Amino acid sequence: MPAFTYARTLPVIAEPDVLVCGTGVAGIGAAVAAARSGASVLAVDRAGFAGGFFTNIIGSAFDGFVYEETGRPVVGGLVFEMLERMGVIEPGTGPGLQFNVNGDFTEVEKYPDRLIPRTDPELFKLASDRILTESGVRLLFHTQVADVVSNGERVESVILSNKAGLVAVQPKVVIDCTGDADVAAWAGCPYETADSVQPMSLHFRISNVELTFELRRRCSDVLTKARAAGKIRPYGGPWPATFSGTDIYFNAVRTPGDSTDPDDWTRAEIEGREDAWRMFELWKSELPEFENAHFFTSGPTAGSRESRRITGDYTLTGDDIREARRQDDIVVLGAWRIDHHPQEASGYHDQPYVPPYDIAYRTLIPQGVENLLVAGRCHSATSEALASSRVTANSMGMGQAAGTAAAMMAERSLESVRGVHVSQLQSSLLEQGCILDHSEAMKPG
Ligand SMILES: Cc1cc2nc3c(=O)[nH]c(=O)nc-3n(C[C@H](O)[C@H](O)[C@H](O)COP(=O)(O)OP(=O)(O)OC[C@H]3O[C@@H](n4cnc5c(N)ncnc54)[C@H](O)[C@@H]3O)c2cc1C
Repeated sequence: MPAFTYARTLPVIAEPDVLVCGTGVAGIGAAVAAARSGASVLAVDRAGFAGGFFTNIIGSAFDGFVYEETGRPVVGGLVFEMLERMGVIEPGTGPGLQFNVNGDFTEVEKYPDRLIPRTDPELFKLASDRILTESGVRLLFHTQVADVVSNGERVESVILSNKAGLVAVQPKVVIDCTGDADVAAWAGCPYETADSVQPMSLHFRISNVELTFELRRRCSDVLTKARAAGKIRPYGGPWPATFSGTDIYFNAVRTPGDSTDPDDWTRAEIEGREDAWRMFELWKSELPEFENAHFFTSGPTAGSRESRRITGDYTLTGDDIREARRQDDIVVLGAWRIDHHPQEASGYHDQPYVPPYDIAYRTLIPQGVENLLVAGRCHSATSEALASSRVTANSMGMGQAAGTAAAMMAERSLESVRGVHVSQLQSSLLEQGCILDHSEAMKPG
């Protein structure tokens, strides 16, 4: 491929204690925790709003914060605060509640008395704006991380691209919450990408339809038949959820691809729209419930479940999860099933239950650099383990831990994220309402 060298002088627009790149659930957790711990924080996102999966892709399920066997929470802290701010739970009640897993109707039918923590994307946007600004975070939306300048051991500058052109930020600590580990990769840190990453999906919403358990089964039957007849490409689920009772968002499109490959991501958008419309037309022609249905919206973007995973000081494995191995430097508990969406198969896939397990601080520390943490779905985990740890509540918990650690590093002028005293980090997380002990979650309700 031909290449050319390009050099120019950029303005340094900020020198914060902590720069958070990406304001998905992990980035919200990181920015809020760092700011509340006393750090000056700049947080940037390429979108015009925070929330990542909930708002960029339109999801509804705050998964991973509950051990499904008992319905007891395993992640607290900012996850509860977000649910409170959206009016899903009463302030202070979270630790005592039993929850159902959102979107999985088998579970909902099994435990009709448990609460379902719905997350309406518009409420999530508003709650995110408020929690970030009230915490004192400086926000820049429509701002893409474009490049990283490091001296080998330290990230010195992060180059941003926005309507002001190219600008630089020189923070003490960076937290990479881009989901794709853009900062870590561009800083030269080692990472892996699976040969077969989980597929991308473009979600879509249909209005003027009432969601029932029965309708979900009937939608699934139509797709099974159409796939067998070769009328549609591979699809997932479908997993429907409703925000208003009269509209349904569908997680059903399945496009193989890697979101760090611009061609793949473009294809996922185009194929996703084709597939979403095809499914809608099939349901409309075969199901009377869809008589007045309207294709309301898709996206805003096709989402990525898995791309780059950093190689950290420790890598979470499938065995760590299955055997619930304890870690001295635990900073978040996980309990979501090993939910690995296959690229080529259609319908529902096996998702074995797992016991509450420990996610170690070392999985947030990329090898070879001293002032960078990585939180969320690009932390250090095998592809199998990430199928569990990637989900929203755990990602927000990782962000909260990374933000707290980064603020400690800045406050104490530590040279390295490895110098953070883990027991002090854990004490601070417990004070913030995080849950680090799995025994409560194991107690039957
Ligand atoms: C289709 C789909 C369905 C899913 N279903 C569920 C579900 O039902 N339940 C569940 O709990 N989880 C689900 N997940 C998983 C979950 O969304 C993610 O794993 C989780 O949200 C990870 O959060 P994150 O903050 O690490 O990353 P993301 O949510 O990906 O957020 C990353 C943020 O960084 C920003 N960003 C990225 N690159 C840059 C850059 N270079 N510069 C600036 N900003 C950048 C993005 O705009 C985004 O706001 C699903 C994911 C997908 C894709």
